[in-house]
Amino acid sequence: MHTFLPLGAAGEIGASCFYLNIEGTGIILDCGMHPQKAGLDALPAFDLIKDLPVDFVLISHAHQDHIGALPFLVQKHPYVRIISTPQTRAIAELTLHDSVSILKEQIGKEEELKIYSHEEIDLLIQSIEYKTYGEEFFLAGYKHKSSEPIKITFFDAGHILGSAGILIEFNEWKFFYSGDINLNHQQLLTGAGLPKTKIDTLLIETTYGSTDSSLLKNWNDEAETFAKEANKIINDGGSILVPVFALGKTQEILAAIWELMQKRKLIQTDIYTGGLGAKISRVYDYNRYVVNYSNPELELSKIPQKNLYDVDNFEDLFKAPSIILASSGMMLEKTISFQLGKQWLKQSKSAIFTVGYMEETTPGYKFANSLKGNKIQITGNDKPSEVKCSIKNFSFSSHSKREEFLEIVKKLKPGNVILVHGDSSAIDWVGASILKNHKGIKVFKAEKGKKITLG
Ligand SMILES: [Zn+2]
Repeated sequence: MHTFLPLGAAGEIGASCFYLNIEGTGIILDCGMHPQKAGLDALPAFDLIKDLPVDFVLISHAHQDHIGALPFLVQKHPYVRIISTPQTRAIAELTLHDSVSILKEQIGKEEELKIYSHEEIDLLIQSIEYKTYGEEFFLAGYKHKSSEPIKITFFDAGHILGSAGILIEFNEWKFFYSGDINLNHQQLLTGAGLPKTKIDTLLIETTYGSTDSSLLKNWNDEAETFAKEANKIINDGGSILVPVFALGKTQEILAAIWELMQKRKLIQTDIYTGGLGAKISRVYDYNRYVVNYSNPELELSKIPQKNLYDVDNFEDLFKAPSIILASSGMMLEKTISFQLGKQWLKQSKSAIFTVGYMEETTPGYKFANSLKGNKIQITGNDKPSEVKCSIKNFSFSSHSKREEFLEIVKKLKPGNVILVHGDSSAIDWVGASILKNHKGIKVFKAEKGKKITLG
């Protein structure tokens, strides 16, 4: 008998972490940190598996909401075997080290949580085994009941470098976890690949389930619009702040901006990047010939960039028109994009261009949904301030459109579908649409702690 138990990202984007028990062998799919919570609250519900076998962890990709809690899991289960793609492992080395100091600030006072050190991260990274896309491997050597080996294959999920959908096969039974999946091409990454086999259970994300797909533009068209709008600001002497995730969006948007400048569609200006995003760009560069990549000739590190972290005074960013790529993508408090955002509000010639999904509870959502002339209060601690800059929203998506989830279902013909990684309206739309179009499929909304028996 196989069972499935959600430990996070159920009914929200949250901390992705799912426990799958295949006849006694315990496999954890992803081990993320909640992006908007701190301390213990940010972790998956590890208590739910404290008396269950935990043998393997398979990581779909290196975004913090899918891998950030891994060091805490390893504290509780030191002998667990961890497997990811080589790219995810390389990126995790950067991001997990980066989070050591952030966590120290956040959870200094919570005694139940033991903060890990840089040395522990080094050991953890060394212990991660890596498998490339399409390379079949077997989970064996486990001490629990299942007698047959479990076969695993990673598929390119087209979301960020190294992102994988995970196919798990046991005898004739097949389970596929989409991870975060994008069927469409971005500037650098090409779209996802899927298994060419019928699946028994599909575990699928629903990020854009409640978003009307007409709002999610084709990447190339959106890049052209971005250039037109950016040229207006630059011609007026303004600077453009683009909040981006350090991982994924920084690299894709940097590549898009550079190509637009090369084609003379976008006025050549200074581009500012830096910090973790710039380090991750190097991992993209190293891997550009070994993954599906639309333009392997392009080296992100060779694009002329100024280091945002060398700027002593933010006022300097307004002296000449420039484009600033700063993390975090959702402008979370204390991050550089949040601090810069507040400076931008005061500048009438400049603009904030958002380029991706904003959770409703984040400061980024407030920025994105304001207009010039509005008064906004970004957080409870801030005074309301007037929006003097322009604000434009673009959609450079790294997730599939909602109709594409239905396409995936049509291709994989699952008997069961489990919906995760989306808010409740997103999950409702995808669930209802599957039920309407595909008679006979059982649809489950994942609920934290609620076990699903998969036969
Ligand atoms: Zn992701």
